[in-house]
Amino acid sequence: MPSVAAAAFDSHGPALALDVGGTKLAAALVAADGTILASDRTPTPAGPGIDGSVIWAAVTELLDRLYLSAGSPALAGVGVGCGGPMVWPAGEVSPLNIPAWRGFPLRAHIAARYPGIPVRLHNDAICMVIAEHWLGAGMGRESMLGIVVSTGVGGGVILGGQVLNGMSGNAGHVGHIIVETDGVACGCGGRGCLEAVARGPAIAAWATERGWIPSRGDLGATAEALTIDARTGHQVALEALRRAGTGLGIGIASALATLDVELVVLGGGVSQAGALLYGPMHEALRQYASLGFTRSVPVVAADFGPQAGVIGAAALVHQGAAYWIAD
Ligand SMILES: [Zn+2]
Repeated sequence: MPSVAAAAFDSHGPALALDVGGTKLAAALVAADGTILASDRTPTPAGPGIDGSVIWAAVTELLDRLYLSAGSPALAGVGVGCGGPMVWPAGEVSPLNIPAWRGFPLRAHIAARYPGIPVRLHNDAICMVIAEHWLGAGMGRESMLGIVVSTGVGGGVILGGQVLNGMSGNAGHVGHIIVETDGVACGCGGRGCLEAVARGPAIAAWATERGWIPSRGDLGATAEALTIDARTGHQVALEALRRAGTGLGIGIASALATLDVELVVLGGGVSQAGALLYGPMHEALRQYASLGFTRSVPVVAADFGPQAGVIGAAALVHQGAAYWIAD
C-alpha cells in the first residue's frame, strides 16, 4: 500500500499531529508557530469484536489522507496525544476508553512508519495543558495547572516553564485527587476521586438516580443535556452541577497547596456549563484554599476547544525544550 514512510525530515517543517480519543481520531498539520495548515478526523472504530489492528488501520488511513492531500511536506516530527494510562515515554498505550488497545505500542508503530523523523507521544490531557501554555490561556506563564473535565477528568502541570512529567509521565493526574473520603467508586479502583464526582457521565448518572429525565431526549442522559436543564432551573440538575463544582474546587485547592502555581486553566466539555459549575467551584475554593499562595490563584477557561489536542501534540515536536524532556 502507498506509504508515507518516505516522508523527509525538515526541522522547520510542519508537525504531523494526532489526537487519539475514544470517539474520534483527529489529525492536523501544524506549522512551527502553531497555525493549523490542514486537519481531518474520523470516528474511532468501536463496538464488540473490534480488534486493535482495526483502530491502527483507521489511524494510518487518516494520517495518510491528510498528509497526501497536503502535498507530502517534509516534517519536523510526528506528535501524538492519547488517552492513558500508558507506559511513557515508550508510548505503549492502554486507553481506558479504547478497550481494544492494551499495551499497544503506538509510538513504535508510528516511528516505524516515519523512519528518521522524531515521534513524540504524551497523555492527551497533558497535550491540552501544553497547548494552553504554548499559545492559549496560560501563554507566557512560569507555572500553571490545567484540568480537562470531560468524559474523564485529566490534567497536567507546568512548572518553571516546562511540563512536569513525573517518574512515569503521569504527573498531574488531578482526576484522582480524593475529594470525598467515603465517595463513590472510581474507574481507577479507588473511591471518592474528583473524576468519579465531576466527569460528565458521573454527573449525569448522579442526577438520573435522583429522578432527572433529560428534556432534550435526543442528547440522552449526558452532561450537555443536564446543563441545558439546569439553566432552566431544574433542581436536581442544578444540584448535580453544584456537587461537581464543589468537588472541583476541593480538588483544585489540594493541588494548589502541592504545586504553588500561578494559574489554573479549565477546559473540556463539562466546563462549558459555565457559572453553574464555576460558582460552586469558587465557593469551595474560598472555603478550602486558605493559604496565602493558594487563595488568590485565578481559575480561567481554556482558550482552545477540541483543537487543543492536536496543537499540544504538535508542541511536543515544535517546542521540545519545554514540553519534551524524555529522550
Ligand atoms: Zn480515581
